Amino acid sequence: MKRRPWCALVGAGPGDPELLTLQALRLLRRATLILVDDLVGDGVLALALRGRRKPPRVLHVGKRGGCRSTPQAFIERLMVAEALAGERVVRLKGGDPFVFGRGGEEEAALRAHGIEVEVASGITAGLAAAHALGVPWTHRDHAHGVMLVTGHAREGGTGPDWPTLAAAAAQGLTLVIYMGITRLPDLQRGLLAALPGTTPAAVVQGVGTAGERQALTTLAALAADVAAQGFGSPAILVIGDVLRARAAGALALPRAA
Ligand code: SAH
Repeated sequence: MKRRPWCALVGAGPGDPELLTLQALRLLRRATLILVDDLVGDGVLALALRGRRKPPRVLHVGKRGGCRSTPQAFIERLMVAEALAGERVVRLKGGDPFVFGRGGEEEAALRAHGIEVEVASGITAGLAAAHALGVPWTHRDHAHGVMLVTGHAREGGTGPDWPTLAAAAAQGLTLVIYMGITRLPDLQRGLLAALPGTTPAAVVQGVGTAGERQALTTLAALAADVAAQGFGSPAILVIGDVLRARAAGALALPRAA
């Protein structure tokens, strides 16, 4: 009997293979073809391949994987075609496939072709950053929620309304921003419309990777510090009083500029 075409969207977490779920590992070990995103840690892929008698084919489909910038439509077509041809396709994505990961679009494209889809969640970079900084995003002395926001407007679309988000952050919502580095000056200006310059801010680059770096500063100094210290993508920005909850009294916030 012919097997129903199958594909899995698997979250690789932020980089460290220890943070992979057992579900993710099980699906990876079923794969005959793995399509790997840019932000997936090498250790995760190594773990997926370890001890496989017949190793799966591996294709790097991210900007840094040789395909300068594989368009999303091409990746979706590839997943569909390979799954329909009988490959057990795993699309391995950084963090969680459903957090700024295009997982929803890919799942819809696959299902539209009658392909069975399984999704394994991963630890998203914005939550891994909480552990990297030693700050519980929802520490109840400082915050009653958390917002995961993109700093990057969709092509042709409008970006987030930073003053509105700042007003929410001022009510005790920790602001965790993905893809914010390139738009940082605009973003900072917008947030300062409703938040004091002394509001704690942090940047964490390469969470869960060997190159992880972080800095703690204030909203007023964030863009200047990020530029001066040469932070780059991938990085998470965090803004909110909750950063005062840093464990072990290690909070050495610079004074506001
Ligand atoms: N699905 C991913 C997010 C992809 S969007 C997840 O759930 O984590 C890409 C953005 O995610 C990057 O611009 C950066 O803001 C963030 N990001 C992904 N991996 C990261 C890492 N290891 N360290 C810091 N930020 C990361």
